[in-house]
Amino acid sequence: MSHNAESTAFRSALEVIRAVEPRVADAIGAELADQRESLKLIASENYASPATLLAMGNWFSDKYAEGTVGRRFYAGCQNVDTVEALAAEHARELFGATHAYVQPHSGIDANLVAFWAILADRVESPALKKAQKRHVNDLTEEDWFALRRELGDQRMLGMSLDAGGHLTHGFRPNISGKMFDQRSYGTDPATGLIDYDRVAEAAREFRPLILVAGYSAYPRKVNFRIMREIADSVGATFMVDMAHFAGLVAGKVFTGDFDPVPHAHIVTTTTHKSLRGPRGGMVLCGPELADQVDRGCPMVLGGPLPHVMAAKAVALAEARRADFADYAQRIVDNAQALADGLLRRGATLVTGGTDNHLVLIDVSGYGLTGRQAEQALLDSGIVTNRNAVPQDPNGAWYTSGIRIGTPALTTRGLGAAEMDATAELMHTVLDRTSPGTGPDGAPSKAKYVLDPAVAEQVGKQAADLLTPFPLYPEVNLT
Ligand code: PLP
Repeated sequence: MSHNAESTAFRSALEVIRAVEPRVADAIGAELADQRESLKLIASENYASPATLLAMGNWFSDKYAEGTVGRRFYAGCQNVDTVEALAAEHARELFGATHAYVQPHSGIDANLVAFWAILADRVESPALKKAQKRHVNDLTEEDWFALRRELGDQRMLGMSLDAGGHLTHGFRPNISGKMFDQRSYGTDPATGLIDYDRVAEAAREFRPLILVAGYSAYPRKVNFRIMREIADSVGATFMVDMAHFAGLVAGKVFTGDFDPVPHAHIVTTTTHKSLRGPRGGMVLCGPELADQVDRGCPMVLGGPLPHVMAAKAVALAEARRADFADYAQRIVDNAQALADGLLRRGATLVTGGTDNHLVLIDVSGYGLTGRQAEQALLDSGIVTNRNAVPQDPNGAWYTSGIRIGTPALTTRGLGAAEMDATAELMHTVLDRTSPGTGPDGAPSKAKYVLDPAVAEQVGKQAADLLTPFPLYPEVNLT
C-alpha cells in the first residue's frame, strides 16, 4: 500500500465522500479506473495533475466573489483575491499578455466575455452601457429593443464548422449565431488548408466587426500575422480562440506568426485541453480592452468559481516550468508519428497530416461514416470522437471523420513507437469494420459490422500498450 501524499489525499477524500453518498465515491473511483484503461485519443481532453485536481476540492467553492481583484461586491474575498491575482499573473507571464481575465467558467463563457467586450469597445450604444450596469431582470422590454436597435446586425467572420471552426464562432445553434450576422471562411477543397486570399476576399466583401481565428478540428498551424493584416485592412477586431492549442502556445511550440498573443486584439482559451489545467476559460488582451473584459461579471458571468481559479493558478504555474515546453513538443511529435503511421497504412487524412496536436481521419476511405468508425473503435478500447470533414456529405451528426489528438496520451508518457502501434490498431479496426443495415435491410449510417474477436484482440493490445504508462501512478486508491 502506498503512503505518498497524493494517494493519502485522494483516498481520504473518497472515504469522506463515501460516508455521505457511497455511490458518488464509487463513481469517482470507477472513473479513474475507466480512464486508466482507455486509450484516450479525444483531442480536447487531458489529465490534470493531482495538485490541480486537489486545488479544486475545497472551501474556495463556498465563496461568492463577484467583481474583480480588490473590487468585490462581497466582503471577505481577500483569499480569493490572492488566487485570482496569482492565476492572472501566471497567465500574463506565460503568454506574454498585458491583461488576463481568469474568471470564465468555460470556453464558451470566455468567448461571450470577449464578444461583449468588443461590442462595448466598438459600438456606440447607450443601451449597451445601461445593460452593462444593470441586472438582466432590471432591464425593460424597451431597453432590450434599444439594445437590439443600437447594436444592429454586427458582423462576425469565423472559420466554418465543417472546416474545423467552433460552434461559438457565430453558428446558429449557439448564442453567438443569434448575436451576430455571421459569415464563415472555409478551407481550400484541394488542400484542406486555410486560403488566406479567400479569407481576405470574404473580409473585404463582408466587412465584419470581428474576425475570429481558432478551431476545434483543423490539424494545421494558422498564420496569425496574416490574419491580423486582414483584420486591419477592413477595420475588424481580431480575436483568436486558442482553446485547443493553448498548451502549444504556452510550451513555445507555436511562436512568431503562429503565436496568437502578439497578433490578436483579444485571445480566448479553455484551460483544460492541451494546457492541462482545470475545466475553465480565460481571456487575454491588451490595455485597450482590459476594462471591458473585466466586466465579464456581471455582463456574462455571475460569481466566479474561486476553487477553479485556484486550480488555474496551479496549472498555469506548472505550464511555466521548463518541462512543459518539452511536453508541448512531444504532443506535436506524437501527433505527427500517429499521422505518419496512419498514412503509411493507407488512411486518408484531412490536409494530409498535422502540425499541431490533432489529426482528422476521413473514414469514407474505409467506406464508413464517422459514427460507425467511432463506435467500432470504442468497442475496441480506443476512445475518439466523430467529426465533420470539410464539405461533409454526412453532415454534423453522422459525419465522415474521426478526430484524434495526443495531449492526453502524451501526458501518460506514450511516445512515437506507441503512436505507430496505435495507428496499427486503429487501422485494423477501421479496415475490418463494414457498414451495416437497418431493420428493413436498407444501408445505415449508424450500424456497422465488426467481428467481436477483432474488437477483443485490439482491446487487449490497446490495454497492453498502456501498461508501461500508468495513469496517475502516484495515486493508489487501494
Ligand atoms: N472554443 C473552442 C475552439 C473549443 O474547441 C471549445 C470546446 O470544445 C470551446 C471554445 C468551448 O469550451 P467549453 O466546452 O469549455 O465551453
